[in-house]
Amino acid sequence: MKAVTFQGEREVRVDDVPKPGIQGPDEALVRVTVSAICGSDLHIYHVRTPVNPGAVLGHEFSGVVEEVGQHVTRVKPGDRVVACFFSYCGHCFYCRRGWFSQCEHKGVFGHGEYFGNLGGGQAEYVVAPLANHTLEPIPDGVSDEQALFVGDILATGYFGAERAGIEPGDTVAVVGAGPVGLMAVMSAQLFGAAQVFAVDRVDSRLEVAQGLGATPINGAAVHPSEHIKSVTGGYGADRSIECVGLPATIEIALHSVRHGGTVSVVGVPEATEQDFPYMHVWFNDLTYTGGLCNVPPYMRPLLDLIKAGRLDPAVVVSHRMKVEEGEEAYRMFAEREATKILLTS
Ligand code: NAD
Ligand code: ZN
Ligand code: ZN
Repeated sequence: MKAVTFQGEREVRVDDVPKPGIQGPDEALVRVTVSAICGSDLHIYHVRTPVNPGAVLGHEFSGVVEEVGQHVTRVKPGDRVVACFFSYCGHCFYCRRGWFSQCEHKGVFGHGEYFGNLGGGQAEYVVAPLANHTLEPIPDGVSDEQALFVGDILATGYFGAERAGIEPGDTVAVVGAGPVGLMAVMSAQLFGAAQVFAVDRVDSRLEVAQGLGATPINGAAVHPSEHIKSVTGGYGADRSIECVGLPATIEIALHSVRHGGTVSVVGVPEATEQDFPYMHVWFNDLTYTGGLCNVPPYMRPLLDLIKAGRLDPAVVVSHRMKVEEGEEAYRMFAEREATKILLTS
């Protein structure tokens, strides 16, 4: 089958690889109908996340179940499903506390040997381990494309907004208007934000944010946090949601909120260590939160919101390409020539 594989720095390749098959009773084989390239794939592409050469990439995908192991009861062949971007056991210390993203037996799709050696979704087929947990059935009225988003970036934007503690009427600064930031804009609105600022440096992405009802701020033209303060009576936003992960953007998020505000960081930090402004956070009574999205509890409610017409994450899709075009698709996404690229086989 055709699959996008990691080769090295800024190098992916579409290879013919063996079609995977289920090996155990808890697994399901999924025929992928649509997958996506994510900002987290760019961390691999830029070798900030270690992945072995040859690994099949892709952790955002929907598809149709083709075959299931004997313990898999929640889905059956023919069902349309979306995958959570990671697998989790459901019974360890963290799973029992509802922190599935911290599962002691977690694997991440499309991240090679160091992250559980799962397959990748930028391919024709993928095996889902622990399929009773990992796969969520897609309800009628929700397309495979729309559903794909609940397995990662829509859940992440929503998680970022929820942890920001947004209350009706709040002003929210979303730092980064990439796909995750755009999901955070939509989610902030669902929580009742009266005004959402979207900070980025790429005009095409700011235009999408504006189309969603956010106020765009081009960080190349103005100092984002100073600008946000100047248009909020000198105070700053009530909450910020950081969706990039760079030291500079985390700093913008920290300085865009008023005293007593909340800073919620979902961008994967690029630096493993960085000066943290303890005094600024302490003196201004800020709440700082962030982390890997705890996707599973959000999948069903988000599918229901899509089905109800309250959300349409697919509006951020700028390009639909073939898996065979994977190399060009990665180049375009890395160069910010595309906002969100979906791949089909
Ligand atoms: P992306 O790379 O497409 O988007 C990042 C955006 O930040 C881009 O639009 C870019 O122009 C903007 N940006 C970069 N530097 C900037 C600056 N100095 N000022 C303003 N804007 C700037 O990626 P994405 O798919 O939107 O993902 C964003 C982040 O979220 C990534 O770090 C990704 O790994 C992370 N992520 C985290 C989780 C989680 O569980 N916490 C899940 C999915 C993705
Ligand atoms: Zn992702
Ligand atoms: Zn677990």
